[in-house]
Amino acid sequence: MKVTIYGSGYVGLVTGACLAEVGNHVLCVDIDPDKIERLKRGEIPIYEPGLDDLVAENAATGRLAFTLDPAEGVKHGLFQFIAVGTPPDEDGSADLSHVLAVARAIADNMSEYRIVVNKSTVPVGTADKVKAAITDTLAQRGSQVDFDVVSNPEFLKEGAAIDDFMKPDRIIVGTDNPRTAELMRALYAPFNRNHDRVMAMDIRSAELTKYAANAMLATKISFMNELANLAEKLGADIEHVRQGIGSDPRIGYHFIYPGCGYGGSCFPKDVKALERTARQVGFKAQLLAAVEDVNERQKERLFDKIRTHFNGDLKGRTIALWGLSFKPNTDDMREASSRTLMEALWDAGVHVRAHDPVAMEECTRLYGERPDLTLYEDHEEALAGADALAIVTEWNVFRSPDFDLIRKQLKTPTIFDGRNLYEPRHLEDMGFAYYAIGRGRSI
Ligand code: NAD
Repeated sequence: MKVTIYGSGYVGLVTGACLAEVGNHVLCVDIDPDKIERLKRGEIPIYEPGLDDLVAENAATGRLAFTLDPAEGVKHGLFQFIAVGTPPDEDGSADLSHVLAVARAIADNMSEYRIVVNKSTVPVGTADKVKAAITDTLAQRGSQVDFDVVSNPEFLKEGAAIDDFMKPDRIIVGTDNPRTAELMRALYAPFNRNHDRVMAMDIRSAELTKYAANAMLATKISFMNELANLAEKLGADIEHVRQGIGSDPRIGYHFIYPGCGYGGSCFPKDVKALERTARQVGFKAQLLAAVEDVNERQKERLFDKIRTHFNGDLKGRTIALWGLSFKPNTDDMREASSRTLMEALWDAGVHVRAHDPVAMEECTRLYGERPDLTLYEDHEEALAGADALAIVTEWNVFRSPDFDLIRKQLKTPTIFDGRNLYEPRHLEDMGFAYYAIGRGRSI
């Protein structure tokens, strides 16, 4: 089948590469000339495990191609996937300008039936807006062409995106046209062999399903962080509590890790957007507002602990920082907890010596060269002469470090662990001042 995908970011590029891998002919359209040039040269602009090989192999066969030209894109695919960003607007609601720009570009160039598939995360009612944008643009052209709009939200996780796309938990297809549902089912058939994962539903329910999933996951994290803060006050260890509650199959062990807050391009913006959607229809989504507030506060916890440990005397100090990406196996730093921490440290006059296995280029892109930030290729190098070590991302390489070396390299053996990687008793026995999240110490 022929597929066009607008947006060559985490979602668009993975979708394109996976659809090409199973035999489709995919054309990826982006408005970023630099991105398209790099992709044409075989360079992958983002870090996603396995994506470079998948893109290279499929580009070499000619089944995966890249262009800046939407006219070429509209001509190419029966399926026109929209996978562009939907960042938060000033008031937190989803900014649909990129989605609607693609809808208009499709309508500007459309001369035969097309299925417009929305993969971006968009508020309920967006399919109607996409339909209206296409209808209006066609009318302005004095043209009448048949089309359908489908909601097909994406659930992949950065860091495991290819696996998630190839073996999805579910394939949500929101459409009011049974024929379109069948065509979508055929497109997804290669990823749907083991058991039927296609869930066809009305468009609004499909749009809401994506927000509901992310809001539920964010709620689990904020719930655990709330309890972690309480555990600190009560002298309890949240890691014992986590295991104790996870053993109940109704609760389960997944996604109940406490830490220094969730970040990334999805949870923060999607919780905000859903809460704003609720507000727009006159509904006060109290729980969602609390999930967001708890997370904002949680992202400040490590800085609070550092400030308290040093009795507010931070000016001129140096902190070693392990981890910049919002989670392991990605270079994505959107809304990352590392950013909240670094920015607070810089405001307090602290120098940061940081390392991340893949996100240092992104960090430089975001913050440029600054005198109070030095990036190190090696996590152990970042330690030398720092007053303490802070950990914000649970990359595997940080899980079992050389503690003797850490003790020797730091000015004082002090660790602020935002991901609860180590055993407090063990660290204390080795002479560390060790501050984790919710582990019975109340600073
Ligand atoms: P991204 O920022 O990585 O990529 C978006 C791309 O769209 C960019 O390359 C940009 O240049 C391009 N673009 C913008 N306007 C365009 C236009 N008019 N025509 C063509 N291309 C255009 O974004 P992403 O992380 O891939 O997310 C895309 C959507 O998918 C968002 O709505 C997001 O919420 C959703 N989503 C993301 C994830 C994730 O893990 N990143 C998972 C599920 C869903």
